[in-house]
Amino acid sequence: MTAIVKADLGACQGYANCVVGASDYFDIDDDGVVVLLQTDVPDAELTRVDEAARSCPVSALKVIRG
Ligand code: SF4
Repeated sequence: MTAIVKADLGACQGYANCVVGASDYFDIDDDGVVVLLQTDVPDAELTRVDEAARSCPVSALKVIRG
């Protein structure tokens, strides 16, 4: 099963915790807003990406299990 990661760009404050946790999924653009590098999260990546998403201080990231 694959999960999907979604970002609330309006909520993002550019803290970059997500980038530290999973730099292959999250980046920050020149305006300090998160960029999703990929959205499909396979099972093998789920724990790591979920922890990175949960590290967001403003809860801008959600991992939705399929
Ligand atoms: S941790 Fe949250 S606020 Fe910080 S860049 Fe990532 S999504 Fe944005």
